[in-house]
Amino acid sequence: MPDVDYLSVRGVSKQFDSGGNAVSAIEDVSFDIARGSFVSILGPSGCGKSTLFNVIAGLLPPTAGDVRLGDTSIIGKAGQVGYMLQKDLLLPWRTIEDNITLGQTLRGIRKRTARQAAAPLIDRCGLAHFEKKKPHQLSGGMRQRAALLRTLLTGKDVLLLDEPFGALDAITRLQLQMTLIDVWQETRKTILFVTHDVDEALLLSDEIIVLTQRPGRVRARLTVDLPRPRTPDMLASPDLMQLKAQLMTLLLQEVTEP
Ligand code: ADP
Ligand code: MG
Repeated sequence: MPDVDYLSVRGVSKQFDSGGNAVSAIEDVSFDIARGSFVSILGPSGCGKSTLFNVIAGLLPPTAGDVRLGDTSIIGKAGQVGYMLQKDLLLPWRTIEDNITLGQTLRGIRKRTARQAAAPLIDRCGLAHFEKKKPHQLSGGMRQRAALLRTLLTGKDVLLLDEPFGALDAITRLQLQMTLIDVWQETRKTILFVTHDVDEALLLSDEIIVLTQRPGRVRARLTVDLPRPRTPDMLASPDLMQLKAQLMTLLLQEVTEP
């Protein structure tokens, strides 16, 4: 299987019918993602990022284009990639640990085995002692941690994370960003990460794909040439500041240009 274009998005467009009017959400989006890389999709609100993810996840048929994983088209095929939505979507009647291990138990792995395997990660994500609680007993940030863990444990090679840390406070966000990077480096998953936060994209990614405002098209693709492991102080390095200025300018043009 070729490594450089493991996940291929080819000429994907999506139009929605909005009360008789066609609304174009994304238009002719194409990119290839190398296996094991961490790529962020950065773009203004409403530019079609979640729509693009729904297409890649096989949940939404595109109006045009194809999405391939290796040699296989995954259009309309749900369950090929792990997907964490903006909303946590935990099952309210299951405990936190049973929510986190849902993917494994659905695959027939015994609950006890799945729980044991998940325990170290539960600990690292600050959820120890909350395993037996139900989602409504946890804060929004905690629920989001649990949803992230569930996604990390799905057993899929490709993970789509849609603004997973958008609603968290700065410290929790930083902590989870670092945990995500650690786990990604250990497991070598291929991660596509949607964010509108420039610093977050810079800190986490190998590459950043910038989308235009709606209809979203690929505006630019930049490489973040920083060593790993990444630390927050790297955001102050001159090279990174320059990249940040470039990204900010691109985004600002998108929201100010007609
Ligand atoms: P983003 O995630 O970048 O904020 P979305 O992909 O959620 O953007 O939405 C892109 C555009 O498509 C928006 O204008 C939104 O209103 C529209 N849209 C998204 N889903 C639907 C839908 N199911 N029906 C009609 N319009 C939609
Ligand atoms: Mg969205």
